[in-house]
Amino acid sequence: MAEKRDYYEVLGVDKNADDAAIKKAYRALAKKYHPDMNPGDAEAEAKFKEASEAYAVLSDADKRRQYDQYGHAAFDASAGAGAGGFDFNFSGDMSDIFGDIFGDFFGGGSRRRDPSAPARGANVRAALRIKFEEAVFGCEKDLTLNLKEVCSKCHGTGAKPGTTPVTCTRCGGKGQVTSVQQSIFGTMSRVVTTCPDCNGTGRMIKDKCPDCYGTGYVSNRKTLKITVPAGIDDGQSIRLSGKGEPGRNGGDRGDLLVEINVMSHPIFQRQDYNLYSTAPISFAQAALGGDVRITTIDGDVLFPIKAGTQTDTRIRLKGKGVPSLRNKNLRGDHYVTLIVQVPEKLSAAQREALIAFDKAMGGEATKEEDEPFDGIDESSKKKGGWFGKKK
Ligand SMILES: [Zn+2]
Ligand SMILES: [Zn+2]
Repeated sequence: MAEKRDYYEVLGVDKNADDAAIKKAYRALAKKYHPDMNPGDAEAEAKFKEASEAYAVLSDADKRRQYDQYGHAAFDASAGAGAGGFDFNFSGDMSDIFGDIFGDFFGGGSRRRDPSAPARGANVRAALRIKFEEAVFGCEKDLTLNLKEVCSKCHGTGAKPGTTPVTCTRCGGKGQVTSVQQSIFGTMSRVVTTCPDCNGTGRMIKDKCPDCYGTGYVSNRKTLKITVPAGIDDGQSIRLSGKGEPGRNGGDRGDLLVEINVMSHPIFQRQDYNLYSTAPISFAQAALGGDVRITTIDGDVLFPIKAGTQTDTRIRLKGKGVPSLRNKNLRGDHYVTLIVQVPEKLSAAQREALIAFDKAMGGEATKEEDEPFDGIDESSKKKGGWFGKKK
């Protein structure tokens, strides 16, 4: 992979630039380098693409966060088992940006397009729900969805076999019609719109193919094997190249983007590649130290704690976190907060032992039959003043 420039550097903005500043910087670059403004200039086109890619990331809060954290590696398509995560699809997803950015200086939707030129198929989006552990360790899943295929009866023409589509008479095969509109200021402007008769295809079908009703496509229910790479996080996407909608006029198929939804776990919370959990330990364990049993994503482990460990002590289990998407041998850590448990019910023997312990500590634990200290008035007791929960 070629050395990529920093996205902020590409747009010439500060790392803390706000959305408006990023948009403004991109507009200026896009105007300067747009291929329509620089026909045949490969360098301008490269610069335009570079700026567009930078803008696609930095204008999206989620992607920007990922980029700030991982740099270009966050979108490295070679990471993981066929997992890309993010797409820079200039024909599909970028159209919003183009409409937004270029709307006012290209005269809104007047981008010319040859209806018979090959066009890439649309990307298809799907979602896949997986268990927490499946996200951590990776998994293979079946995903069943309806996928558009080129109709085998008419080979995508939409015309009944033996007939051929004819050129649309309204637009003459151009797929677009031009009308002249008068604005409220009296100026005339030409407006180009998609031909309503042929929906922009430039062709009319007289006898429709019975299998696809003239659309040229049929939908088939298909089951795909999805390899989910270890370390994937909730909301990230896996790209299956060429599994989207078929292209037109021999264009490539679009991609299938599978968004991963990870179920929550009863014990573990995840943040990036680290795991967090709490583990109960007894008062005696806390005081005496020794091995405590801790549940990790790999199973239970015995962890030695120091004598005199306090409640809320956080320990780190190195390498017991989530594998990195880019290198599954690199794993985050597992942080465990130890919570010292106070027994709620005591047997007589346990009580005696505890009182003996307290005496040995020089304390003054009382037996239940003893008169309680009476210096507290009843109202403050009810409010829980003295006996209230202390943290
Ligand atoms: Zn057909
Ligand atoms: Zn037409």
